[in-house]
Amino acid sequence: MERKYVYMDYSATTYTRPEVLEEMIPYFTENFANPSSKFYAISEKPRIAIDTARERIAKAINAEKSEIYFTGGGSEADNWAIKGIALAHKNKGNHIITSQIEHHAVINTCKFLEKNGFEVTYLPVDENGLIKIDEFKKAIKETTILVTIMFANNEVGSIQPIKEIGEICKENKIFFHTDAVQAIGHVHVDVKNMNIDLLSMAGHKFYGPKGVGVLYIRKGIRLDNLIHGGGQEKGKRASTENVPGIVGIGKAIELAVEEIHEEVKRLNYLRNRLINGIKERIPYTKLNGPIGENRLPGNANFSFIGIEGEALLLMLDFEGICASTGSACASGSLDPSHVLLAMGLPHELAHGSLRLSLGKSSSEEDVDYILEKLPPIVKRLRDMSPLWEDFMKKGDR
Ligand SMILES: *Cc1c(COP(=O)(O)O)cnc(C)c1O
Repeated sequence: MERKYVYMDYSATTYTRPEVLEEMIPYFTENFANPSSKFYAISEKPRIAIDTARERIAKAINAEKSEIYFTGGGSEADNWAIKGIALAHKNKGNHIITSQIEHHAVINTCKFLEKNGFEVTYLPVDENGLIKIDEFKKAIKETTILVTIMFANNEVGSIQPIKEIGEICKENKIFFHTDAVQAIGHVHVDVKNMNIDLLSMAGHKFYGPKGVGVLYIRKGIRLDNLIHGGGQEKGKRASTENVPGIVGIGKAIELAVEEIHEEVKRLNYLRNRLINGIKERIPYTKLNGPIGENRLPGNANFSFIGIEGEALLLMLDFEGICASTGSACASGSLDPSHVLLAMGLPHELAHGSLRLSLGKSSSEEDVDYILEKLPPIVKRLRDMSPLWEDFMKKGDR
């Protein structure tokens, strides 16, 4: 087969698996009825399908079916959890704790709340992108109502000590939300065991469709609505259900959890081959993020001294390689990555990062193709780079 492109951007999005798409299709066509239309029989199929999806999601994270709420994606789930808790519990306090390396869906929601009378602590992280438990404990106050810390980071793959954070929140009677968008399908998630009160996920990060997500809300937790309207999702999240999407996310999570062990092993192997290969072939390369257990299996993130991330991505694109950089990202801005800056990288290195994220279609052949194409590209860019010239002159290497 002719090579068209090598996709190494699975943390940005995944394709929808054929098995998932196949289950979704009838809910666009013959089973199209509105699940809320209770007076005719054909609305029963979509109702049952939603129920099955809810059951599959609950099972995958060890929750109850009644604790699963469908949303329009990961960002919506994050917004709902944070604003919903903040508004419903503002009488108890106005302080929220999060980290400096959250996804913008969390950071910008916190910034919005800051403009509306809430106080937010953005916890620093260590050089591996992990929060420091001591600093976290010190940040807790009388007025703290919510902790929102991501399960796994989308740029550098760091996996936080979620169970420990959950325990501390429980001891202090503070709600604990985690953005688990990158974790599902890659890390074992158990909301009961980990004391998680609220958890966000997004279908398109684990081979389900885009535009559908889930917020898990522990039984008994009160939070305000984000989307007001009709009575869907027990009156907590209005809008006619995205039935095909809901069917898709349900099927996708079932498959992801079934295959997790095998897939993690395979991705770890490929990722290590990629990381070791790049370090061997390219001098002065910095691997960003932790090594080993605390790293998402498909994530590799590098900074190459003397190089701009955007230039690198353009040249990789000429070779048919799809990757991403910490800067640019969704915003299209040229800001350095807030995640890498929080990890203490200097601006030059935070600008020159490359994220390669592996997934289902990734093969040894793909990894070897990158190992062949990337080193000469880095060399060419460095040969043109004044930053690199300075670095080589300094002689303090
Ligand atoms: C992709 C992502 C989101 C946003 O999910 P959408 O479905 O695109 O809204 C939130 N958090 C993390 C960690 C992500 O990787």
